[in-house]
Amino acid sequence: MNLLIIGAPGAGKGTMSELILKNYHLVHVSTGDMLREAVRNSTPVGLKAQEYMNRGELVPEEIIHDIIADRFSHSDIDAGFLFDGYPRTRNQAEDLDSILKDMGKKIDCVINLNIDDEELIKRITGRRLCPACGEIYNVYSNPPKEEGKCDKCGAELIQRKDDNLDSLKVRLSEYHKNTQPVIEYYEAMDLVRHVEASGGIEEVYGRINSILEGLC
Ligand code: AMP
Repeated sequence: MNLLIIGAPGAGKGTMSELILKNYHLVHVSTGDMLREAVRNSTPVGLKAQEYMNRGELVPEEIIHDIIADRFSHSDIDAGFLFDGYPRTRNQAEDLDSILKDMGKKIDCVINLNIDDEELIKRITGRRLCPACGEIYNVYSNPPKEEGKCDKCGAELIQRKDDNLDSLKVRLSEYHKNTQPVIEYYEAMDLVRHVEASGGIEEVYGRINSILEGLC
């Protein structure tokens, strides 16, 4: 099964991906996570991407093309993939199509998480992450048992640099301008399943899971 999960910043792509991966044997490819790791390690890609990410802007297409092409050179992806946060522009969607065509693969389903912009603001400004194990929390809707500490491993929780109102505004406008056309692109191929992404984590995952069960 080859899946894409698409949604505005804060729609729950990361949280839903984690749950999907617990139940389905897929390789998770998050361009956001790959870029953040590159920034942490100060690689040439990280140094170039950092300023765009901090401002909330999309990273230039050639950087994304290179990290995706590199990711496809690893054979683990043959088991099936879940792309999270990619493609984010029509150009990236066309690029992905041509890579998949060359490899004799196809996308089975595009999950589009729908949510109002107002709810996103609450989710994004309340989001906290565990830098050690990757667990995601929200101070309003899904707080850790002890403030500021990860329930799973006890590490000090952090806030993403771009999880602030200024960069969120830019990220939302990038999303509406660039990523909505991606949804239309896949709608024309009849691959999109729209999922209402407001509500509790289990409730939203239940909606996704019933779509995935229908695919298996
Ligand atoms: P995310 O974790 O998916 O919200 O991504 C965080 C940031 O990484 C975005 O705001 C962009 O700056 C950058 N980014 C992630 N994926 C892409 C992509 N497919 N195309 C361009 N920029 C990306």
